[in-house]
Amino acid sequence: MSTRSRRKTGILPVPADTLPACRAGKMPACRDSLEGCLPIAPEQVRVRLTIRGAVQGVGFRPFIYWLAEELGLSGWVRNSPSGVTIEVEGARRDVEEFRHRVVSDKPPHSVIQTIEASHLDPAGYGAFEIRESDLTGAPSAIVLPDLATCADCRREIFDRRNRRHRYPFTNCTHCGPRFSIVEALPYDRENTSMRGFTMCAACRHEYENPCDRRFHAQPNACPQCGPQLALWDAKGKPLSSRHSALVEAARAIRDGAIVAAKGLGGFHLLVDARDDAAVRRLRERKHREEKPLAVMFPSLAAVREEYAVSALEEQLLSSAEAPIVLLRRLCDAAGIAASVAPQNPFIGALLPYTPLHHLLLAEVGFPVVATSGNVSDEPICTDEREAVERLAGIADLFLIHDRPIVRHVDDSIVRVIAGREMLLRRARGYAPLPITLRHPVPPTLATGAQLKNTIALAAGYDAFISQHIGDLGSAAAAAAFRRTIEDFARLYRVRPAHVIVDEHPDYYSTLLAVDAPRSTLQHHCAHVLSCMAENELDPPVLGVAWDGTGYGSDGTIWGGEFLKITAEGFERVAHLRTFRLPGGDCAAREPRRSALGVLHETFGESLFRRHGLAPLRAFAKGERTPLRQMLSRGVNCPLTSSAGRLFDAVASILGMRQRASFEGQAAIELEFAIGDGATEDAYEMPLSADGVIDWAPSVRAIVADVKRSRSAAEISAKFHNALVEAIVAVAHRAGEACVALSGGCFQNKYLTERAIRRLREEGFRPFWHQRVPPNDGGISLGQIAGAARALLEANPR
Ligand SMILES: [Zn+2]
Ligand SMILES: [Zn+2]
Ligand SMILES: [Zn+2]
Repeated sequence: MSTRSRRKTGILPVPADTLPACRAGKMPACRDSLEGCLPIAPEQVRVRLTIRGAVQGVGFRPFIYWLAEELGLSGWVRNSPSGVTIEVEGARRDVEEFRHRVVSDKPPHSVIQTIEASHLDPAGYGAFEIRESDLTGAPSAIVLPDLATCADCRREIFDRRNRRHRYPFTNCTHCGPRFSIVEALPYDRENTSMRGFTMCAACRHEYENPCDRRFHAQPNACPQCGPQLALWDAKGKPLSSRHSALVEAARAIRDGAIVAAKGLGGFHLLVDARDDAAVRRLRERKHREEKPLAVMFPSLAAVREEYAVSALEEQLLSSAEAPIVLLRRLCDAAGIAASVAPQNPFIGALLPYTPLHHLLLAEVGFPVVATSGNVSDEPICTDEREAVERLAGIADLFLIHDRPIVRHVDDSIVRVIAGREMLLRRARGYAPLPITLRHPVPPTLATGAQLKNTIALAAGYDAFISQHIGDLGSAAAAAAFRRTIEDFARLYRVRPAHVIVDEHPDYYSTLLAVDAPRSTLQHHCAHVLSCMAENELDPPVLGVAWDGTGYGSDGTIWGGEFLKITAEGFERVAHLRTFRLPGGDCAAREPRRSALGVLHETFGESLFRRHGLAPLRAFAKGERTPLRQMLSRGVNCPLTSSAGRLFDAVASILGMRQRASFEGQAAIELEFAIGDGATEDAYEMPLSADGVIDWAPSVRAIVADVKRSRSAAEISAKFHNALVEAIVAVAHRAGEACVALSGGCFQNKYLTERAIRRLREEGFRPFWHQRVPPNDGGISLGQIAGAARALLEANPR
């Protein structure tokens, strides 16, 4: 049953002696201080910090040295073309204190613009040292992401005596737009969309003064010389300008109107988050039925009133990246309308990250829904004329400005899992910072997957992953995809010598015509390689790739895969038992269809006599006969081993959800159903001799438990636990120390944290995603990593 993908083209084959493999053999069971209910014990960790900003020539390296010495940490620090790289290793608590004090105690003249952290396997450093500077890579090739307003600029815009009082485009060297305004490199004003604004004498003085905070701040501006606000009606007719535009927009939001506001990387649709009727109106107009909406809060204190916020979540909300952070609602929270996140205990919260947002939120004084200005899954609008057209019938008013947005950049989304941040959507604040590759690649373009698409362009050791582009189903998204590829090639002056695409024959990203040799890489192999790349793992590794759907090497739909990655290729060592999906693609939107497939596989034809089953009841009598015929004949019923669809099936059997209004909704609700009612019990899910995980005994038990009216919390926990035990069983069979968890299913906090804990207890070393999403947003990086690993199938065109 196992498919073996052999190397047909060798692109930069990796010499065996550069593959140290995983440093570990099997380790004794170690426990980690994961968040929540997991056991806590001291443990050695290694963290790499990549710091960009003014950190050279200001005493930064000696400061780092003494801080590490004081905390008893080992590792090193060195200058790099774009800043400083640090690795520290030691007890988790000390490493965390180090991370905190790097920011709070930094030398007076240093400026930290971005700080990226990667958790790596302990390396066993003996001491702390200052290393020789690393001068590879050109500093000019680094485009910084857009950075949230710094404290100094924030103070100025609220200071009546300051010349930038109430000025929504205030910025300095430490904050403001970057990626969203850059047209070409080097990053000079002439190469940005600020080119059209001539600095006044006061601004120019700041710009030219090396002692000023705005020395060479390319978007520097003030009310006299910079961009300005305007308020337009729904047809694009100007109503007011400057500060009165902002005041009137705030008044309209207070009155329940929907305001489209042009921000940093695109338009937001804003509406009073406390006003249920207004939020419902927004959902209706935007054709967004139930998918949770993000909420921007005026302050951290306002977030704390409604949601439980950990120290790490606070740090993320207030960071220069300022992402949307998924937070759990407090029991007594009532300030946010239920329609913002229906049947969902979590909310995506964010804080104002531009002066415009700070001023607007201060003016309204309450939380507002801030969702992307688009129609359903299309890319976010960036131009005001285009917005008036595309958002016609949605927005009542347009709060716009005249600083052009060069490229769309959505808000990033982060969830804290296992005590670390995990990016679920990588865009503003993070894109386009490169991921450093372990092995160099020739100029390579990777086109990603179909859903949650990102592209990546790499050369040498740098992989530049694009901002989130989205689902390539619409013409607008397809255009954004093509634009982003051209944009990256021009920005980084890289002409790809090689293109890597998914194996799926019908993905838009596969069909793209590019004038370069192409190779394909299997979807789930790309997931695992992406996780390995960001954790800097070399093979052999056991990859667990669980998602909704991906084209398998045998032509069926894969999604519950265990792939052993070696230096020569990959082998499918195990997978979830397959089942039929009646209706194929429409099953993704109808969990009841996955459920029928799963139940048919479990009970055969007798399923149709079990009239009490929720999925069966979800179909009208007349619909059941054709479905039965489809299933028994296998017509329009593709086979799948998808873990995502298995989650859907269980949610449907529990009567939780029969139709989903967005991808993964049923699985998310199944995870949330566990609540605090965790149990250590698990259903049975045996692993066969030929590597098939049989979930049928679990399904039988679930059907019986539903009949006995067992709680959804208990059933869901036992189902999740069974899946985790199946992972552990395959890990034992495969015998690899390192286990990489990837695919959209590992956005599930319960599943991921439990898998990490159980694998560690059994002596394995689990790895999961941090800076690159586990979902299909990470596929492009995996494809790039494939180019360095010679795992591609030649696919000349
Ligand atoms: Zn600033
Ligand atoms: Zn000025
Ligand atoms: Zn996938």
